[in-house]
Amino acid sequence: MSEHPSSVTVRGPLFKERGPLRLAFDALLDLIYPLRCVLCGGTLDGLAPDKLPSREIGICPDCRRLLVTDKSLLCPYCGEIGDIPADGSRCADCRNHRAAFERIVSLGPYTGYLRSRILLMKTEISGYTAEAMARLIWAARSETLRQSGCDLCVPVPRHYLRRLRRGVNDASFLARELGRMLDIPFDDRLLRRVRATPPQSRLGRSARLANVAGAFAVAPKRAKRLAGRRVLLVDDILTTGATAGECVRVLKEAGAAGCVVAVCARAGRNQYFGP
Ligand SMILES: [Zn+2]
Ligand SMILES: [Zn+2]
Repeated sequence: MSEHPSSVTVRGPLFKERGPLRLAFDALLDLIYPLRCVLCGGTLDGLAPDKLPSREIGICPDCRRLLVTDKSLLCPYCGEIGDIPADGSRCADCRNHRAAFERIVSLGPYTGYLRSRILLMKTEISGYTAEAMARLIWAARSETLRQSGCDLCVPVPRHYLRRLRRGVNDASFLARELGRMLDIPFDDRLLRRVRATPPQSRLGRSARLANVAGAFAVAPKRAKRLAGRRVLLVDDILTTGATAGECVRVLKEAGAAGCVVAVCARAGRNQYFGP
């Protein structure tokens, strides 16, 4: 498996549903370019497109194994890895720090291969890695996501200056794809970042809370969409939960009935999560 794929054949967002035309097109493409894993560039030998579950196209079994942590090892509420009570109740950590959101859905801890794919995803303007990550979240956590009962998918917004610098909001790609998987509306204009904030990395918990206070707002013209909705708030990484918590506070103030957070990875509360 190559760490940094340079030439990856990607069946992109043009063909989401695989009708007969799509299957024929895929078969033709396979003759020209072997189907490759979007995340690692490895070939998907032996896994013909029509044998793959339609919503997991392009992700090889090795990537799935390396990126997805068994959910029995993660706290179902805060997503932290560690001593998880067998009865499905909260871990000791989040019993003391109740978050504004109900639970976190993640692939696992922000380390190793998952961290490297997220760092790639953050800079990629095509959105292919983000889409693949969203499909992986869906493949691994669809039961929890369905049970969350969310009916609106919203990404954590980036300030426009950051979007100018990076070119993309990877959370927006993730949220659009997760919304499509869950078959619920996606809205990346509902929540706005109204104040640029210094990066959260290297800040302690209380400094993070102060840093994001008042940084988000619901767009007044779209606020009526929120009334009584349960929101799936999507971001790439969650650390202390300060950013997500502030988003949820603003969403609930504007009428949201509840919030579940979906992220690719959960960084430990005291973990540095640069680049
Ligand atoms: Zn792979
Ligand atoms: Zn917990």
